[in-house]
Amino acid sequence: MGRTMRTPIIAGNWKLNNTISEAVELTSELKDLVEESTDIEIVVAPPFTALDAVGKVIKDSNIALAAQDVYWEDSGAYTGEVSVPMLKDVGCKYVIVGHSERRQFFSETNDSVNLKVKAVLSHGIHPILCVGEQLEDREAGRTEAVIKEHVTGGVANLSGDELLSCVIAYEPVWAIGTGKTATPEQAQEVHKYIRNLLKAIYSNEIASQVRIQYGGSVKPDNAAKLMAQSDVDGALVGGASLQAESFALIVKNAI
Ligand code: PEP
Repeated sequence: MGRTMRTPIIAGNWKLNNTISEAVELTSELKDLVEESTDIEIVVAPPFTALDAVGKVIKDSNIALAAQDVYWEDSGAYTGEVSVPMLKDVGCKYVIVGHSERRQFFSETNDSVNLKVKAVLSHGIHPILCVGEQLEDREAGRTEAVIKEHVTGGVANLSGDELLSCVIAYEPVWAIGTGKTATPEQAQEVHKYIRNLLKAIYSNEIASQVRIQYGGSVKPDNAAKLMAQSDVDGALVGGASLQAESFALIVKNAI
């Protein structure tokens, strides 16, 4: 089974940006620009406060809604948290889980990431599980060891069917927001490593259907070369998703 089995997925992670009105404006522009892009999944992840408004703009369009994080309990005394049923209620199809900024600034661990992945799956929506090494890991030759911990920790105790509901995003931390993109060859090497890991835990059939996105300074001018790699099935885009035109160009250059 090759790449043709996997529909490419381009997701925009807006991070801590955009008021409701800004989010609505950006989404409306994007919707017009990508309305003819088929055979590709397009996802936007606004901040929690703008999910409802953005969801209304993209209703019945080819753009799906994602949240940037979630808590694993459904309800209760967890001040400040948002649950999977709440995200489902507002129309989310995807939830980004374990983004490196959450790992770095909010003490996210492989165990908490796994709890979140399982919670998202238990409600029938899809985690985008982020994994990636820091610069010092890469320089010390520890890239594969870190990726192995992130992947095996993140998908621990998932069935094959559950894994098929996940998207994995390989995001080298040194490439996020730095303008330093991994070369297409560096990305392919790690994507292939991730797929082989999944093959060893599950099966060739399952591993070959899992979509693995690349994230880290993806821009309109580097998207095509990254996406041309056989194990790169899409992109998770931060900075360049904050402008409708650049995000739409990434979508177009990805197919
Ligand atoms: C991200 O935060 O997921 C990301 C890839 O950011 P950027 O595209 O800005 O590097």
